[in-house]
Amino acid sequence: MTQPNPSRAACPCGRGPDFAACCGRYSGTATPAPDADSLMRSRYSAFVRGDAAHLLATWHASTRPASLDLDAGVKWLGLQVRAHRVIDADHAEVEFVARSRLAGRASRLHERSRFVREGGYWYYVDGDLFTKDPA
Ligand SMILES: [Zn+2]
Repeated sequence: MTQPNPSRAACPCGRGPDFAACCGRYSGTATPAPDADSLMRSRYSAFVRGDAAHLLATWHASTRPASLDLDAGVKWLGLQVRAHRVIDADHAEVEFVARSRLAGRASRLHERSRFVREGGYWYYVDGDLFTKDPA
């Protein structure tokens, strides 16, 4: 197994060597993400790529916004998945930190997200923010 070349564009989520071999597999509805961790990563990559369609498609119907306006000025800097807690076959939580920058101002999103699986597909439901987290 060869190490990924750092000069090559890695998948935005930081896991795969490139988007197509990583989160790209779960964009669209052809291939369901195998677990909440993979879905979470594919949603982060969708934010990076401005793929609102994937975000809406993987948002649970009970909490999904009618539309999504992604701020093109946000520059996503990286994702760190802190924990992936499997509650049962169809419920899981993923704790992550996502760093971004908007108009020169750095921002850090630390959230524990809830995911549910229905009909073989994982969906993002909602999440709790860690607001008192030191940067
Ligand atoms: Zn990825």
